[in-house]
Amino acid sequence: MIIRLNKNIDESKANALGKELQSFVLKKNGSFILVTPNKLKEVEEKHKSFVAESFVFNDDIQLASKKFIPHTREINISDEIVIGGKTNNTVVITGPCSVESEEQIEQASQLCKKLGVKILRAGAFKPRTSHYTFQGMGVDGLKLLDKMRHKYGLQIISEVRDSTHVQDIIQYADIIQIGAKSMYDHGILNACAKTKKPILLKRGFGTTLQEFVQAAEFILSGGNENVILCERGIRTFETKTRFTLDLCGVAWLKEHTNLPVILDPSHAIGYAYGVPDLTRACMAMGCDGLLIETHPNPAVAKSDASQQLNFEQFSNLYESLKPIAKAIGKNII
Ligand code: PEP
Ligand code: MN
Repeated sequence: MIIRLNKNIDESKANALGKELQSFVLKKNGSFILVTPNKLKEVEEKHKSFVAESFVFNDDIQLASKKFIPHTREINISDEIVIGGKTNNTVVITGPCSVESEEQIEQASQLCKKLGVKILRAGAFKPRTSHYTFQGMGVDGLKLLDKMRHKYGLQIISEVRDSTHVQDIIQYADIIQIGAKSMYDHGILNACAKTKKPILLKRGFGTTLQEFVQAAEFILSGGNENVILCERGIRTFETKTRFTLDLCGVAWLKEHTNLPVILDPSHAIGYAYGVPDLTRACMAMGCDGLLIETHPNPAVAKSDASQQLNFEQFSNLYESLKPIAKAIGKNII
């Protein structure tokens, strides 16, 4: 249950009630709210005079539920980059899978600048399937991203591989990406709950929608309201494509949760040939953002070489999204 306390309830009283009801205590719009376990279905008589309103849930999707906030929450990535809320924005994010060199990331930044893409993506800490492949440039990679952030006025998204990197990512990036393989990492989830930076939480490829949104609840209940979900493909019986993009799941997330949803067709299909069509399908679904991997020379990419678009392919794709966005009343930002 979520209980919004009356405005006159002070912090010590809110904390005492929170303790009694085994709740997380958060402050929202000037009042304290308690997030109790969902098995609590009624406000007890003795507490009624403290309560302004309450919301009952069937399961532990609570703060993320549309029953609590009936619309997609607004997330400000910067003053000019806002998604969700009253906006009809779809933010396009592009860049290579990994930062590999200054030259490579500068080329990617120049592509963003040329097209008007405002958010550059690249991983510096790569959670690879094999330990014998490129693991990322680490903090040196983040410093290169930071250099591009200032030189080209771009926002940066980069992924955290374990909780010891969260502070580095906070320092050098504007959005913290939690990768599919880390979706369940409570060290990372709890560290991300303690910052106000937007978090892009990717769906684990073997997880249900319920488990995915419950992972988001760890961040939300810890005090960070800025969570964005990312569908990036789940594992099914099909092996011809790398994963299966769960667009039905996206429809469910949009219907039942208040969190913006970004779609990542690149990791879903795993092959560049399908990325443009899949991205257009994602755009047509009316998502809050798209994340597409691009590389100046995909053939030599140190990670995810098969799925990255070259700059010409990406430029053509970007152009083709505009009429689709217009047809469904979305603004590409
Ligand atoms: C990535 O974004 O480069 C990545 C590793 O994604 P995922 O966690 O979805 O596999
Ligand atoms: Mn990748």
